[in-house]
Amino acid sequence: LLSVRDLRIAFGDREVLHGVDLDVRRGERVAIVGQSGSGKSTLIAALLRLLPGAGHITGGDIRLGSDDIAHADETLMRRVRGGRIGLVPQDPSTNLNPSMRVGAQIADALRAGGLRGRPAIRQRVVELMTEAGIPEAGRRADQFPHEFSGGMRQRILIAVALARQPELLIADEPTSALDVTVQRQILDHLQTLVDQHGTTLLFVTHDLGVAADRTDRVVVMLDGDIVEQGAPEAILRDPQHEYTKRLIAAAP
Ligand code: ATP
Ligand code: MG
Repeated sequence: LLSVRDLRIAFGDREVLHGVDLDVRRGERVAIVGQSGSGKSTLIAALLRLLPGAGHITGGDIRLGSDDIAHADETLMRRVRGGRIGLVPQDPSTNLNPSMRVGAQIADALRAGGLRGRPAIRQRVVELMTEAGIPEAGRRADQFPHEFSGGMRQRILIAVALARQPELLIADEPTSALDVTVQRQILDHLQTLVDQHGTTLLFVTHDLGVAADRTDRVVVMLDGDIVEQGAPEAILRDPQHEYTKRLIAAAP
């Protein structure tokens, strides 16, 4: 589904990704692990061609299906961002419309995904919210984002992302150690959901424990390179890279 070859990215003239190779098969659940600044979010932003500021691709290739993402025009990228790749962003507070009921925001995403008919859309909104782990979805669909906790808002964003029926769902998780419990809950839900929908999942975290429990493959990044990847059991049992060994030793 996704194929990244020798991808290089720079901010201004400072290179931060030094030739990344990554393949993700359809239906696979892949975790990207690495400390702060290793380039996880930069890689994700490149897949959507949403690099901030002076960020730009300086070399390499990105294929989504048969589409050449690294060189795609804006029309194709709008289609990719609008549906084919769903992003559950790091910060849920900035990505919901504060003045729109959450049900209406999910309904918009469903329409963008091609669903038609008011009753069908309403029913799907409640189903998606329930699947994402939001209790009393029928009532809460009519509430506004500020009436939900941070964790619940992130679940709403998962529902929004899934409503567009993406081929690839990406969750970029916050790096605070306090969030690890929430990350586990979110990943538990994502795992169930992607299994139901047959969606491919890319889960970004700094926590190897979170990553290893619930994915098919772990990709370890360090300072702009992928230093190791493999099945979670293999990585945990027999890590090859010094950095991975340190990650395992540091895990609680
Ligand atoms: P975190 O776990 O903290 O989210 P990360 O692995 O996502 O970290 P990135 O945000 O991708 O790391 O950052 C990779 C490198 O790119 C870092 O050296 C960072 O300083 C640099 N960088 C990221 N965003 C920008 C930007 N907008 N302008 C300049 N440099 C940037
Ligand atoms: Mg990041």
